[in-house]
Amino acid sequence: MQSEAHTENDPAEILRRAIGNDRVHSSYLFTGTGQLPATTAQTFARALVCRNADRGEVCESCDACHRSYEDAEGTPIVLDGKGKHGPTHRHIGDHPDLLWVERGHDDTRITIGQIRDIQIALRLGANEGGRRVAVISGAEWMNPQAQNALLRLLEEPPSATSLILVANRASAIIATIRSRSVRIRFEDESTVGLRDSETPAEVAEIVQMLDDLRGQSVGQLLDFAEQYRGARAPAAEGVTELIDVSAEWLRMEVKDHVGRGEAPPTRSLDAHRSLQQLRRDLVQRNANPQMVAERLLLGLRDAVA
Ligand SMILES: [Zn+2]
Repeated sequence: MQSEAHTENDPAEILRRAIGNDRVHSSYLFTGTGQLPATTAQTFARALVCRNADRGEVCESCDACHRSYEDAEGTPIVLDGKGKHGPTHRHIGDHPDLLWVERGHDDTRITIGQIRDIQIALRLGANEGGRRVAVISGAEWMNPQAQNALLRLLEEPPSATSLILVANRASAIIATIRSRSVRIRFEDESTVGLRDSETPAEVAEIVQMLDDLRGQSVGQLLDFAEQYRGARAPAAEGVTELIDVSAEWLRMEVKDHVGRGEAPPTRSLDAHRSLQQLRRDLVQRNANPQMVAERLLLGLRDAVA
């Protein structure tokens, strides 16, 4: 059994070495934000079936590479977690042994049905006689039932298969899956701070609101949380951002205190822990995004009062 691999090297290089040394594992967990973890997962999956990937590089000239190639301009196949308005998973390019799962277009979660379909496909064995690979992108959107279904696959992985989970953070993945997966960490691409000129407008708006927190009435905070009403998927994404920005804002507050030689305020540390709980409620317990936003804002107001 593999444990979480800790290394400071470049993720792409670690993966190329794994292929070059013929030491490919049955399960990987890629963690990090932005597009890089998912695009690296795609390249890694393609290299795993390339006929000439001696050094772990995709050759782009063999038959497998032609099949797994995806035109960046092309329209991706739209998935549906229930399999009604589209398939539950797709292929990378049209390679039969490379599977790709993500949250369906209109879904709030990656469904247990999607995980079961992947399990069936992986157990069938490779069409082309090589490896079969499944990428689960946005794996933080799997609920506990889906994760437990996936765990059964990891406990008895079919031979010559690899699973790649791509999640924005490891804490969204249950410990029993984490311990069976090789962890590949991506440094966050974005180093843009909360108050830089490049800070996106929606982030700046949240920071502004947090800076004014002491002067806000309960009514004003509830009004702010109103924007997270409506369709769950976009609302949940908005609240995820609210949680991320608030966590960073709190970290900076604590740093300010420490910088002045003071002890960090206990209430700020407690508030930071509460944010992690709210994140779990949102992602794993399917809590209502607007209510999570309300609890977050009222809790933070108390913490800084
Ligand atoms: Zn190739």
